[in-house]
Amino acid sequence: MGVPTLGCHCAVCESEDPLDKRTRPSVLLTYGGRNVVIDTTPDFRYQAMRARIDRLDAVLYTHAHADHILGLDDIRPYNLKQKGNVPIYGTRETLDTLKRQFAYIFDDTPTETSLPGVELHEINGPFELFGAKIVPVPAMHGPTPVLGFRIGGAAYLTDFSRVPESSKTLLQGLDDLILDALRYVPHPTHSNVEQSLALVQELKPKRAWFTHICHDLGHAETNARLPENVLLAYDGLQIEAAF
Ligand SMILES: [Zn+2]
Ligand SMILES: [Zn+2]
Ligand SMILES: [Zn+2]
Repeated sequence: MGVPTLGCHCAVCESEDPLDKRTRPSVLLTYGGRNVVIDTTPDFRYQAMRARIDRLDAVLYTHAHADHILGLDDIRPYNLKQKGNVPIYGTRETLDTLKRQFAYIFDDTPTETSLPGVELHEINGPFELFGAKIVPVPAMHGPTPVLGFRIGGAAYLTDFSRVPESSKTLLQGLDDLILDALRYVPHPTHSNVEQSLALVQELKPKRAWFTHICHDLGHAETNARLPENVLLAYDGLQIEAAF
């Protein structure tokens, strides 16, 4: 929902600490002069301005929930500037949902305004993107299948409640694991702090970063309670990854 959460006046929502301001979860991968975004959140336009993204080369989708897709329409300036479609990658299920939620992009109704230009690519396993190997990491988010992504020594796994054993083998030997940890209280479709700490202990990345954090977790006080190599991620956090 983002922090501050609309209508809420709890200590975290009212906090003056900039690290307690959280837009919806997304990652920008920058390598070889390319910009690849994971998910287009409802905050995509603001995030792209903040990160000064001058070109957009591809979008990878984890899943098609509203907080991960609703910024898709805002890729239009990149279509116009780059004079072309932006390749988007997701599972068949995710692409089907995008086609439903953004029907106006995909039906052929004439329009007098611009539409987002996309080129759909179904993810069926690891693939190469602009010279980097992208390894999809399947997980379950309640009843919904989702993908995490591993690129070299870093992996991003948001919105999950269960990671199958076959995916745990894909998450060995990481330098950085960025993973969902919504809050302390258990949730039916998200990993909580205790469950995510257990997963970190099992997978043993050098560092772990919690993301998709709701307003139950204040930045400074939560970090103080976490093990040394586990930290809350924050808006604008930059990580250098080997790949
Ligand atoms: Zn709040
Ligand atoms: Zn979700
Ligand atoms: Zn989400």
